[in-house]
Amino acid sequence: MSEETIFGKIIRREIPADIVYEDDLCLAFRDITPQAPTHVLLIPKKPVPKLADATSDDKELLGHMMLTLKSLAEQLGIAEEGYRVVINTGSNGGQTVFHLHMHLLGGRSLQWPPG
Ligand code: AMP
Repeated sequence: MSEETIFGKIIRREIPADIVYEDDLCLAFRDITPQAPTHVLLIPKKPVPKLADATSDDKELLGHMMLTLKSLAEQLGIAEEGYRVVINTGSNGGQTVFHLHMHLLGGRSLQWPPG
């Protein structure tokens, strides 16, 4: 159950997190193991386990999250130089926490392709 993931606990304030943004639909906090000078995770409050579980009912939520990432990048000062948004999905995608999340990475030049 997604509610039982560590991110569900962060939403419910059962464990601490460095929260940088919150609204009715989503929450953003700094990744505990940052892979770039700025590394923030944006999660929906709705417990969608992974992108593959999203449905057309989530269209507005996902659009809202993408635009929230854009605003967050501006707020965090990484918009001008550029940044990367990543959604790891399922085991081959490298997903380790099964509550949908979008990584926002910036503050350094990022390589491509990923490993
Ligand atoms: P993923 O591998 O895409 O599922 O990403 C999960 C991310 O969650 C990793 O980058 C972890 O460093 C991060 N993470 C795990 N636990 C916490 C936590 N308590 N607070 C902040 N970030 C976390």
